[in-house]
Amino acid sequence: MKFIRLVEYFERLEETTKRLEMFDILSELFREASAKDIDKIIYLSQGQLLPPFYGLEIGMSEKLLIRAISDATNTPTQKVKDSFKHSGDLGKTAEGLVKGRGQNLTAEKVYEEIMNIARTSGAGSVEKKIGFLSNLLRGVSSKEAKYIARFVIGRLRLGIGDPTVLEALALAQGDRALRPELERAYNLCSDLGLVAKALLEKGMEGVRKFSVRVGYPIRMALCERLPSSEEIIAKIGKAAIEAKYDGFRVQCHKDGDKVDLFSRNLERTTHMFPEIREATKDSFLAKRAIFEGEALAYNEATGELFPFQITIQRKRKHGIEELAKEYPLKFFAFELLYVDGMDYTEKPYLERRKKLVSLIKKNPIIEPAEMFITDDPKKIYKYFEEAIERGLEGVVAKRLDAPYAAGGRNFNWIKLKRSYRGELADTIDVCIVGYFRGKGARARFGVGALLGAVYDEEADTFRTVSKVGSGFKEDEFIELKKILDDIAIQHKHPRVDSVIEADVWVEPRYVVTVTADEITRSPSHTAGRDREDIGYALRFPRAVGFLRQDKKPEDANTVKEVIEMFEIQKKVKVQ
Ligand code: AMP
Repeated sequence: MKFIRLVEYFERLEETTKRLEMFDILSELFREASAKDIDKIIYLSQGQLLPPFYGLEIGMSEKLLIRAISDATNTPTQKVKDSFKHSGDLGKTAEGLVKGRGQNLTAEKVYEEIMNIARTSGAGSVEKKIGFLSNLLRGVSSKEAKYIARFVIGRLRLGIGDPTVLEALALAQGDRALRPELERAYNLCSDLGLVAKALLEKGMEGVRKFSVRVGYPIRMALCERLPSSEEIIAKIGKAAIEAKYDGFRVQCHKDGDKVDLFSRNLERTTHMFPEIREATKDSFLAKRAIFEGEALAYNEATGELFPFQITIQRKRKHGIEELAKEYPLKFFAFELLYVDGMDYTEKPYLERRKKLVSLIKKNPIIEPAEMFITDDPKKIYKYFEEAIERGLEGVVAKRLDAPYAAGGRNFNWIKLKRSYRGELADTIDVCIVGYFRGKGARARFGVGALLGAVYDEEADTFRTVSKVGSGFKEDEFIELKKILDDIAIQHKHPRVDSVIEADVWVEPRYVVTVTADEITRSPSHTAGRDREDIGYALRFPRAVGFLRQDKKPEDANTVKEVIEMFEIQKKVKVQ
């Protein structure tokens, strides 16, 4: 496919405000793609060169892009900067300045050129990157330049999520009913390009053949929630009760001496946990394996576990070794997914657990998560209280005969957390879909409140649940304004459902954690709207922490969960 053709699709996607139309445009695009370029077309549409787990960064900043535009168009950098100041969008700036008719490059060629930029590293790489990009811009038309410029700095703003691609792929095959099978393959490899390529090359047969593979992260299983241990036992009977550790979820892939680690949102986190890497090499008794657990900083002197705020310091590029000395880690393993040629995801929990325990040689870092089996709610409750006392988050109950539900949230895993007086038991992660400029004192930051939405999995839509105007510090508001303006769009995104008009709409991209006093029914929000158009809303919402770097928009809490939490709230007696 020619790149200009792809750009025409991007333009149509950018213009549409309707969800169904967005699916139609995308499926038309996928029908037009060939087996050779479908993977690249999917990656480009999602604003990336490869899925995030590859950990590949283009390494282009606004500053470098400005220089490349200036070089390519023989325009003084100051003039490019002025244009950017005016447009607020380097895509528009590039479009205005690139005047050529273009060389009719293929999408594949443009992809390769940008890949070249990304792969250039080491001494002198900055100049080389600018050189490659200005060369590319010289060979394209103004429209193409607009999208290349946005793409290289991560601001494509199309907001096409993974579920959106899956749905459109199924539609492109002329059969929506294929989606679950496509999704199964995707859950096992986390690479939509790979799935789509298999589909076009080998048909559904190829897709059905997908199984777990070391090096490709498996989309992680998630927990449902219930308000009491009695309800847990009523729901799943005799269960395994594990401690719920509040740290980083880590999926560990071992291939001989090569160890890769992935986060819950499937980013490569290998560099963050050198001690887990080493311990896996030495003390995990399998040649090739995939297993999962929670990594936590702990106090060597007292053996106490530290809160999440300490563990999260690992999320940095440099200084990990020093941090590892100051705050050593424990890795509590709780799942086994693959061992030496054997896929464990389909095996029942008890079998996975037994094998997992047998593979961990005694070592100071990795140990099996605490677990006991019971059908007595009182025992669960007692353990839960002790767990809270020890600084843990609560417990997770696991169904004894359940397989590992890749990419799914169901009652195979049920979490039980503490609820405090006048507060929801759990925080809620909302996706930011727009913002309000704010009045009075707030107006000077440019952002007064965010419009937060939860995710409707069925409809692949974000439905609003709250305005969030407190919990941020002054400098955070200022930073928010900059970050959100970078992803501002002209109209409500087609995947967003809202009756409230935001002052500025943004691409659904960032997640923020919110705590609230309770969930109420409300006509102003669209999450969980019933026939009378009454939805659900958060009462006294406040943000906890800043943007969640570890969550994708689709990792926000779901409409279904908000309704469940509302139901739980009705049942729980306030202590
Ligand atoms: P939540 O984020 O509150 O929905 O809880 C799910 C998260 O709890 C998982 O993603 C894990 O990171 C974490 N977790 C801690 N301990 C366990 C455990 N024993 N089993 C499963 N997940 C756990």
